Amino acid sequence: MNLPADLILDLANDVGLLALVAMSYGALRRARLPGGAQAAILGLVFGAATIATMLRASDPLPGIMIDARIIVVALAGAFGGPLTAAITSAVAGLYRVALGGAGTGIGLAILGFGAAAGLLWWAYWRRRGHVSLPSLFLLGLTISCQALLLPLLPIQASATTIGLAVVALMVSCALATLLLGALMQREDSLITRERTLLIDAYTDPLTGLANRRAFDRRLEEWTTGPPRSFALMMIDVDHFKTINDRFGHDSGDRALAAVADVLKRLGNETDMVARYGGEEFAVLLWNCDLPTAMRRAEHLRRRVAAKRFAEIGDAAPLTVSIGVGQTERCGGPGSIRRDADAALYRAKAAGRNCVVAARKPRAARSSSQAVTRPSEPVAAWAGMSRLPPGELRRDPGQLAL
Ligand code: GH3
Ligand code: MG
Ligand code: MG
Repeated sequence: MNLPADLILDLANDVGLLALVAMSYGALRRARLPGGAQAAILGLVFGAATIATMLRASDPLPGIMIDARIIVVALAGAFGGPLTAAITSAVAGLYRVALGGAGTGIGLAILGFGAAAGLLWWAYWRRRGHVSLPSLFLLGLTISCQALLLPLLPIQASATTIGLAVVALMVSCALATLLLGALMQREDSLITRERTLLIDAYTDPLTGLANRRAFDRRLEEWTTGPPRSFALMMIDVDHFKTINDRFGHDSGDRALAAVADVLKRLGNETDMVARYGGEEFAVLLWNCDLPTAMRRAEHLRRRVAAKRFAEIGDAAPLTVSIGVGQTERCGGPGSIRRDADAALYRAKAAGRNCVVAARKPRAARSSSQAVTRPSEPVAAWAGMSRLPPGELRRDPGQLAL
């Protein structure tokens, strides 16, 4: 037996396994499980990896196993935190006890040492976001100190061979830790990058609102599958071209951002407020009936009209027109955007700075008219949507929140 060479080759054989661990780590982190569940599953995956390393261990003496388990346990703590480290150590420890032999006690101590080193690294480097290759190498060097136990074993070999074996074990352990740690760190960086790109892909840079792509996706989610009840406001800034022409495009940009701020502040948690394009915004209101949506739209219209925009002063009040659709009143979820758009168009045609509800489809309209009760909010809105918008604005009693 060539002890130093065997130890290096055994650890090299584990490189494929370590790569698999890093890939599983990346896949689990991408799965976006709740924190505790993710840490626990990671612990089980890392635990399984420690068992795999023990299955391939070198055993220079009966019951004494030298393998890469300390690397896996240390990195479980370093990248997964306390829960992952605890589960990995428990799985590895149980398996080591089941294997038995003279080295069981020391094997368990090594596991504890690896987990503690990994957790220290986690607390000091990773939690602060200061992960670097030198810090990983330092972790590797720390846990490679396990090799110093080698001379204490009653191995029949010369002092030179044992010394070389210690060096070989330390170097390969430090390098393997660096390799696996770097792979896991790379997964982390890729995941962060993917998330940033995803956020960018769905965010409007000027206003910070969701963009049209995000809006279309959400609307598709809400309109497919089981029937749901929701409302949609299509909002268009009035005479915005004039604002640009009078005050310049940059001021126009800032005015749009200010309108977006009003929308953001008035949105509920379950709403989706998006910049639909240009000077047009859309708000999806989850589980919202038409009277509520109309009330909220009117509130919004008033807040925009009342706001003084520093960029343009009082010279040109900024107002919005709003068309409101609701799934139960429109032709159905699939046509809500078209119906809200049509209502917005009517709000524009009627003089702007007003809120108009989408019309019911023809068949539904006649049946609703048959049961019209003026006190019923939906029926009242149905009536209002046919009034001139001036009337809508002049009827604050019915429109106030
Ligand atoms: P209406 O009341 O009928 O909606 O009139 P409007 O002037 O608002 O509508 P129109 O469609 O004629 O003009 C929209 C203007 O919005 C034209 C375009 O230059 C401006 N606009 C679109 N996107 C932006 C933007 O990101 N920044 C700025 N500053 N202006 C924009
Ligand atoms: Mg406009
Ligand atoms: Mg427009």
